[in-house]
Amino acid sequence: SVTRPIRYMLREQRLLFVFLGIAIATLIFTLFPASPGFVGSHLVDRLIARGDSVMVVDNFFTGRKENVMHHFGNPNFELIRHDVVEPLLLEVDQIYHLACPASPTNVVGTLNMLGLAKRVGARFLLTSTSEVYGDPLQHPQKETYWGNVNPIGVRSCYDEGKRTAETLTMDYHRGAGVEVRIARIFNTYGPRMCIDDGRVVSNFVAQALRKEPLTVYGDGKQTRSFQYVSDLVEGLMRLMEGEHVGPFNLGNPGEFTMLELAEVVQETIDPNAKIEFRPNTEDDPHKRKPDISRAKELLGWEPKVSLRKGLPLMVSDFRQRIFGDHKEGSS
Ligand code: NAD
Ligand code: UDP
Ligand code: UDP
Repeated sequence: SVTRPIRYMLREQRLLFVFLGIAIATLIFTLFPASPGFVGSHLVDRLIARGDSVMVVDNFFTGRKENVMHHFGNPNFELIRHDVVEPLLLEVDQIYHLACPASPTNVVGTLNMLGLAKRVGARFLLTSTSEVYGDPLQHPQKETYWGNVNPIGVRSCYDEGKRTAETLTMDYHRGAGVEVRIARIFNTYGPRMCIDDGRVVSNFVAQALRKEPLTVYGDGKQTRSFQYVSDLVEGLMRLMEGEHVGPFNLGNPGEFTMLELAEVVQETIDPNAKIEFRPNTEDDPHKRKPDISRAKELLGWEPKVSLRKGLPLMVSDFRQRIFGDHKEGSS
């Protein structure tokens, strides 16, 4: 697993890649862009399954071809290697913009995708993040909360990048009449997640499988709310197809301390897994939990998969990828 500073580097890169990680899918005659990253690849599976034509745009910064390889040869599927920081000309009906790592992707990539949406009259969905709330002073967080972000902190490249992306999205909506949707995604896990990018669920699962100690940062009392990827994808599709701009919190309100998460991982994988405490990073949010009343009411959406049910589904995928029978992305 990776150290925290490297993980932040990766995260910055991830913002850049999210620009590229755009999924273009189609309803029979239409196309939407998407990315073969973790979330994007699951979204593509659902869109293809309902008969859309999907163009995936990705620069493979954090995404992997293996995540979408099972669609190769399907005439409704197309994979385009492209960095969304560069302009892109396509004809599509809907754009799911998931490309991310660092601020250039979040800002320039989002701008290009909004320009594309404006030119072709496509509906544009931004995958923003709960990180726009920063270290929140309101708990649980509602969409009306403006957040508490340190603009010069180690996390701010990601947080402010997404905040800027939200601003651009609303400006194109108000100024150019682009149909937009904004999702604020809370911590999501599942099969195909990057194994070594340093997020807590992937770290703990990989560590337990490799018989390494689980690294708990700080005192482990900070909280997060973990959402299984299929719940997120359902929410993203409902948001895209619905009539409401948002922003909408998409997350599972089940809140866990990192020590509680470590216990669930021990129960699921290895009751003898040890815990090792490590210093935490600066500006780490103390708690995070979505208020999802808005999504419940307006999208008819709420998560169905609890952490204890979802974690084993991810573990079997990680087991395969770590101990290697080369069937990545097949889950
Ligand atoms: P991911 O890194 O697996 O996917 C991002 C994809 O974007 C990758 O395939 C990457 O190669 C691609 N990409 C990055 N920069 C690009 C660029 N410049 N041009 C083209 N492609 C580029 O991440 P994910 O977990 O699937 O996240 C998807 C989106 O959801 C991101 O925007 C992320 O910020 C957001 N989000 C995710 C979570 C989570 O817990 N997974 C939480 C909040 C928000
Ligand atoms: N853009 C793109 N594909 C398109 C249309 C626009 O990548 O199909 C890019 C364009 O290169 C520009 C950005 O999106 O950098 C914003 O486009 P817009 O037309 O809104 O801005 P303008 O070009 O008028 O400044
Ligand atoms: N964390 C941890 N051990 C790890 C990785 C992360 O205890 O190996 C903690 C981290 O300090 C944070 C929480 O887990 O408090 C969630 O971290 P993650 O990077 O997964 O998500 P984010 O901070 O972006 O919500």
